[in-house]
Order: sequence, then structure tokens, then C-alpha cells
Amino acid sequence: MPLPVIGRIMEKTMLYDNLTVSPRGHLLMDGADTSELAKEFGTPLYVLSENRIRENCRKYTEAFRKYFPEGSVPAYAGKALCFRGIYPIIESEGLYADVVSAGEIYTALSAGFPAEKLFFHGSNKTDEEIRFGLDRHVGTFVVDNFSELRALEREAASRGITQDVLLRVTVGLDPHTLDAINTGKVDSQFGTPIETGAAMEILLQTLQMKHLRVLGFHSHIGSQIFDFKPFCDQIDILLDFSAKTREKAGFTPQVLNLGGGFAVPYVESDPKVDIGENIAGIAAHLQAGLEKYGLPAPRIMMEPGRSIVADAGLTLYTAGGVKTIEGYRSYVTVDGGMTDNPRYALYKSSYTVLNASRMNERSDFMCTLAGRCCESGDRIAENILLPKPERGDLIAVLTTGAYNYSMASNYNRIPRPALVILKDGKPRLSVKRETFEDLVKREML
Ligand SMILES: *Cc1c(COP(=O)(O)O)cnc(C)c1O
Repeated sequence: MPLPVIGRIMEKTMLYDNLTVSPRGHLLMDGADTSELAKEFGTPLYVLSENRIRENCRKYTEAFRKYFPEGSVPAYAGKALCFRGIYPIIESEGLYADVVSAGEIYTALSAGFPAEKLFFHGSNKTDEEIRFGLDRHVGTFVVDNFSELRALEREAASRGITQDVLLRVTVGLDPHTLDAINTGKVDSQFGTPIETGAAMEILLQTLQMKHLRVLGFHSHIGSQIFDFKPFCDQIDILLDFSAKTREKAGFTPQVLNLGGGFAVPYVESDPKVDIGENIAGIAAHLQAGLEKYGLPAPRIMMEPGRSIVADAGLTLYTAGGVKTIEGYRSYVTVDGGMTDNPRYALYKSSYTVLNASRMNERSDFMCTLAGRCCESGDRIAENILLPKPERGDLIAVLTTGAYNYSMASNYNRIPRPALVILKDGKPRLSVKRETFEDLVKREML
């Protein structure tokens, strides 16, 4: 859709084709006026486009069907954005789901997501969580380490069941340097390394266990990966390992899970990632590798989190103070910040920020967008250009669908925002705003 705006605003909103501008200069998402949403639901407010989530899911399901061996399926990594309302959407799009804690299992199941489609991750599943997962018939456990393996076998044995597992192995790869066997990445708290021989050993031990059935291997090489080459390096290592497990243990994987990690652009200068093209590239590399080693085709899994939900979300804030420190810079403070979006504080992540009330005005006010916490690191973006806000203007931060709500906190006793889902532009409240009573209800005097 063409945007009736000029200059920098145009460049920024070109990140997304579902953002437009009303004649009054208000930002619209999927045709819904953000100032109406703010009026109805208050700020700060997370807004999610269900249509966009579904489009993102379909990029995966269509490419999987087209390029990967039969039975391959993507799983949504719930840690990116976990609340009940996401699961019916994910399920109806045909995705499986990753969970990393009993809390995520509980959330998914309470929303009607089928237990058999859950993959239970986590570098330290407690005995209680193992029992919780088994009792609720979680389809597959992704075993991280030896001690977890023994605990899982013990609990499965006591229930007289055979539990499907994947073994999480560490391929020793840094996706951002393309450094294979980078010791920094073998040195990880996640999974069991191939390079040291530990992965072979954990496979041999698992094959001896009467109550566990190994379907294959899992590995996750990182996040914000902009192309498929690191996945090809990962596949090389996994297939080489699979050839060795065939030789040593007569075991070839039925499932190879490549983890998550495709990037999304947060600012206009970030490269765009074509999921379909990248999956085609991975599949071609996989096919060549399978032929080279003479291995049977495994079902392929990937676990996208960010690339399913990040660009489907934006956060609306109300501008408070606008102050200029002469000779230094200007600050715009909003009624949220690191409590609803800790990613700048954690990683210095970049965001695209818009003055959603003045989309038709020039972006010529250089400022830093700060939150309201007593913490100088509480910022959302630095040195950005906006149409100069006045107190009460609506500020939109784009691409906040992933790792915002799921990482939110109550620091400074700030209640967590509400979350609204837009379906074909129609809003429905999916998570209520936290209240002060919510803040104190578990506390005893
Ligand atoms: C974080 C994570 C994912 C999801 O990563 P994204 O970058 O959000 O796609 C998938 N699998 C595992 C094991 C993870 O730790």
C-alpha cells in the first residue's frame, strides 16, 4: 500500500506493508487507528497482527512442504512470545511448539495445544518439570545432558512408558563468524558437544535405556541469522556425526532439528530475510550431504520464534517529558520502557520508532527514547529522529512481537501492559493489563 507521507517517515514505515497513515496523520496497523487502540485499551499497549503471524507461519509451512523431506515440520519457539492466545493461531497453522519450562507447557496446554506436538527444551529441567512433562504426555523431550538423561529414564521407567527424545548436541559453530569448531561455542551451557566425544557417549547411553526412544538430534546455533550458510555448516557437522553414529552404534537419525534463529529487520538498514529462499538453500545443501554420506532422509524440524512474531508486533506508549539538555541531547520519556522491552538494556538492540500521532510531520527532532524506570540504562532507542512529540503524543515502537512481553518485568512495580490482537484489523483484548492488586496478591503480611 502506498504511504501518503514523505522523507524519512516513509523510509521507516516501509519496513512493513501493513502500516499506513490516516489523513489526520495517525499511524494505522492493518487499517486500525493506533490512537483509537490507545484510547480503548490504554498505554503502554502491545499490539499484535494475527494476519502477519499467520503469513509468517505460512512462509515456513509452505517452504517445508515444498523443499524438505516428507513429515518435516516447523515448531514455534514459544519463548519468543508465550501467552495463551498465541497457541490456537500456531496450531491452526499446522506448527508444532517448543516449550522450555513447565510454565510454558502449562500455558500451551491450557490453551488447548496438543501435548504430543510439544518439544520440551531447557538446559536444566528440574525433576519436578520432568514429571510434569511426562504426566502431561509431552510428545518429545529434547535431552540436554547426562544427568537429565538419567533422571528422565528413571521417571519414564517408573511410569512404564517409552518417551521419545531428541539429543541436543553442540556443533561448535558461531553463526556470526562462520568459525567452525570455535571453542567459544563448544564451551556452552546448552547441549552436549560433538567435538569432545560427549555427544557420541550420550547417544550410546541413551540407546541402552529401555524407556527412551531416540528420534534424532537437535542443535541450535544462535539468533538473528541473516542467511542460510551457517545452517549449511551446521548440517555438515550433523551429517558427519550421523555417519559416525551409524558406524559406531548402527544409529541414523529419523529427525534432525536445526533450531531457530532466522533474523528479522528491526531498522530499515537491516537486510531482509526471505524465509522460503533460505529454506530452499538449506534443503539443497541437506540433499547433497545425505547423498554424499548415503544417509536416509530425516524429517527436518526448525524452531522459529522471532521470525514468526517479531514483525507482527508493535508497542504503543504515551509520551511524557520532552527535555533538551543544552549542548548534549534531547530525551523523550514514555510510560513504559525496560519493564515491557528490556532488549535495549540487555543487548543494545535497535528499534524503529514513530510518532504515531504526527505521521505527516517532518522527522527532524533528534532524541533518545527513555523509559520511566530509576535506571539510566532504561532506554528504547538512542539518537533517533521523530516529529517533535508533545506530552500526550502516541509513540510507536515497531517489531516488538518477540522477546518483549515474554521478557517483561514488574521492576519499579510497573504493571505489565495489556496485549491486543488485531484480526483483519479488528482488535480483541488477549492479555489484560496487570493491576496493582495483581502486583500484591501473592504477598503476605
Ligand atoms: C531461542 C531458541 C529458538 C528460537 O530462536 P529465534 O531466534 O527466536 O528464532 C529456537 N530453539 C532454541 C533451542 C532456542 O534456544
